[in-house]
Order: sequence, then C-alpha cells, then structure tokens
Amino acid sequence: MKYISTRGRAPILDFDEVLLAGLARDGGLYLPEHWPTFSAEAIRNMRGMPYHEIATRVMAPFVEGCLDFATLSRISEQTYDAFTHPAVAPLRQIGHSQWVLELFHGPTLAFKDYALQLVGRLFDHVLSKKGQRITIVGATSGDTGSAAIEACRDREAVDIVILHPKGRVSEVQRRQMTTVLSSNVRNLAVEGTFDDCQDLVKALFNDLEFRDRHALSAVNSINWARIMAQIAYYFSSALALGAPDIVPAFAVPTGNFGNVFAGWAARRMGLPIERLIVGSNRNDILTRFFAIGTMTADGVVPSLSPSMDIQVSSNFERAMFEYLGRDGAAVERMSTEFRATGKMAMPQGIWESMKGVFEGYRFDDGATLDIMRTLRHQTGEILDPHSAVGIGAGLKVSLAKDRPLVALATAHPAKFPDAVEQATGQRPALPDHLSDLFERKERFEVIANDAEQLKTYVAAFAGRSKA
Ligand SMILES: *Cc1c(COP(=O)(O)O)cnc(C)c1O
Repeated sequence: MKYISTRGRAPILDFDEVLLAGLARDGGLYLPEHWPTFSAEAIRNMRGMPYHEIATRVMAPFVEGCLDFATLSRISEQTYDAFTHPAVAPLRQIGHSQWVLELFHGPTLAFKDYALQLVGRLFDHVLSKKGQRITIVGATSGDTGSAAIEACRDREAVDIVILHPKGRVSEVQRRQMTTVLSSNVRNLAVEGTFDDCQDLVKALFNDLEFRDRHALSAVNSINWARIMAQIAYYFSSALALGAPDIVPAFAVPTGNFGNVFAGWAARRMGLPIERLIVGSNRNDILTRFFAIGTMTADGVVPSLSPSMDIQVSSNFERAMFEYLGRDGAAVERMSTEFRATGKMAMPQGIWESMKGVFEGYRFDDGATLDIMRTLRHQTGEILDPHSAVGIGAGLKVSLAKDRPLVALATAHPAKFPDAVEQATGQRPALPDHLSDLFERKERFEVIANDAEQLKTYVAAFAGRSKA
C-alpha cells in the first residue's frame, strides 16, 4: 500500500515511512492511496474470531509490501494478549439496544492504548529492520504521555522523553508516567504550563540540525498507524452484534477527530454503520460545524473531559480530503484560510454529504455530570466524563428499532475519580494491576522552562544509547 498526503504535494510513501514520518512534508496528513474494501461475505467470515485476528485482517491491506501477514499477526497477538479483558474490547449492554464499548482494558486505562501499544511494537520492528534508533519527545497534559510511555517502555530501538507541566497533572496521571522506571524512559517536570511544554518540544523539532542528529520523532494523534489500529474495534464490536446483517450507529467522544475518523474508515471499507455521532464538551468546534457548516476556532476552555479540550481537530483534515473528492489543492486552500482567519466555510453540498454520516452534540460540565448521575442511577454503569459525553450524544439520537447504538467508553472511571465522585457519590477504585500505583517508586527530573536546558538533557540521553 502507498500513502498520499491530504495536501497532495508530499512524496508518496510506503507504510513503514508513514509510520515514522507522522506529518507529511507539505503540512498534510497521510492516507492510503486507495481504501481496501471487505464484502459482506468477508465480514461475515470474521464473526467469532478473537480480537487480535479481526485486527490483523482489518490492518493487513494497509501494511502490504512492508509486513507480511504472519508478522502482522504475531505483533497483533502480542499486543492484544497483554490487555486485561479476554474480549480486549468488550461490549456491555445498558439498554434494550444500547451498548457501551469498553476501550479501557489496556495498561493505562484509556482507548489510546489500543493504537499505541501496537504502534510501539511496529516502531521496534521497522526500526530494527533498518538498523535505526529514534528518540521520541513529547509534551502531555496527562493522558497521551502515559499511553506513549507504556507503548515504548523496554522497546529496543526507541527512547522516549515526556514533558509534563510540574504540579499541573493529576496524581494518577503523573504516577502512571513517573513510575515507569525502564532505562529508555525519561520524565521531565517543567516549571511552567502545558503550553510551555509544547513550545519547548516545538523548539526542539524546529532546530532541524538537532532533530536530525538525534533522530527525534513524535507519536502524535495524526499518525496514520494509530487510526489504522482503531478501525479494528469498530469491526469487532459490530461483528459481535451481528454485522454485516445488523447495522449499528456509533457514538464517539471526540477531540482530535482521530477515533471517529477510524469509524468513518471502517464504514468506507464496507462495514455497515448507520451513522457516527460526535460528542463534544464545551470545546465544541466540531459540533458547531456539523450544525452550521462553518468551522470557527475559539479559545480552549478547561473541562471535566480534558482529553477533548482542543481548539482545532487535526484529523478533521482527513475527512475534508475525502469529502472534497481527494482534491489536495482544495484542502490546502481551505486549511491555509482557516489558519489565517480562524474561520472556514465548507461548500454547502460537501457539508450536506458529511451530515449524511456525521451528527454532533455538545455537553457542558453540568450536563456531563447529569449524564453520569443518570446512567449510574438507571443502569448501574459508572462512566468517566469523556465516555459520558459520547453516550449523551448517542442517546440524543432516535434510531430505528433494529439499529443498535454502540457508545465508545474511552477511559476507565478511575482515571477521573473526582468527577465521578462529584456525579455519583462513589469513588471508583483502580483495577488490580494498578492498585499499588500510589506505593510505587517515582522517577522524574525537574527542568526550567528553557529550550537550551532541554536540548542538553535530550542530547545526553539520546547520546548514552549510542555509546
Ligand atoms: C484522546 C481522548 C479522546 C479524544 O479522542 P480523539 O481521537 O482525539 O477524538 C477521548 N477520550 C479520551 C479518554 C481520550 O484520551
């Protein structure tokens, strides 16, 4: 499979190059040159397969030419065998035809594990084959950092340095990062805010000489391999409900649009999906777009669902490219306009065809707590605030009787104990494999908000593995 950029001016790459590249050189995002499709018969044949096998079948066409089926199959099995639920991504029924898809059975209790655990192993495989090493540097406000660290710990060809704002991430989130004592992992607590951390990382990447010398890389949400891995649970859950003969709708709590775009991709590949329902918190750029057809950037306001506190949904560009008939020049024009003016109007017909699949609802913190309280009361289900936003959006839609609703639960409630306690009066416990988190030894270093200090640190750390 070859990959092309959404802006049409970057080199066409193979899967292994796209895996390592992240953003395309023209500023665009990579997508497969064509979408593989599965017939109803091929989908029916996947019924009853274990999760890792469904994932292998779904991903195989995307890695063709780089990984053979047996290798992909082995990596997929190793990845998902380590998850703590035998179904990997189990469904829980909360109503007559309403289901919660639990995507929090990975090591850090958030759905990002489903992609990053695989991506870490893919990095190792591809880099070892090339005889290369990389150093991943990233900033986190909480969730992504721990998932990235867990994905990279003890990998042979990868070092990872994660910056977090000192004293500004929750204790669970900090400990999930700082208690990983592997020799290829470093945590830096920066005297500053999350924005300062991001600026430091940007300064490092913008120093091209430094970036090349230390083979810096990122694991951000625009990486194609993350989307690819996420397509699998749309298939597995639809199959469990009777796909392709049953046609579910999916409700997805959305920030960067990566997760819900994976749902769009599953549909494009032939999986029957009724519609994709997007849930936003107060940072509702997407749901406003689906309502009026114009995208307008606003400042970010903090909410109870911090992993969806975004100003711009970077993966939305992938959907634009598809709906604009894969016209890279048009995507580039509109993205440039958006960056310059903070505003972008979609041609009427394009917006209408998007609305044929996507639909959006927003919930402020009060409404989110109400959903958590009501669900606890009516079904016994305890949800984290992100998942509540998704379910809330799903429940706004009235579906035909034979169309089940699948709402994606993207984090374990114990990751957000304060909000859960506020809503339900109950403080959720961490699952067994993390129950001693507060007793574990931590390791992190404090650095000033200073790019030169960070460079010195990263150079020494990346240098030590070459020695
Ligand atoms: C990252 C994240 C989201 C948002 O997912 P996107 O792919 O960015 O839309 C939702 N919920 C949780 C818990 C997350 O960590």
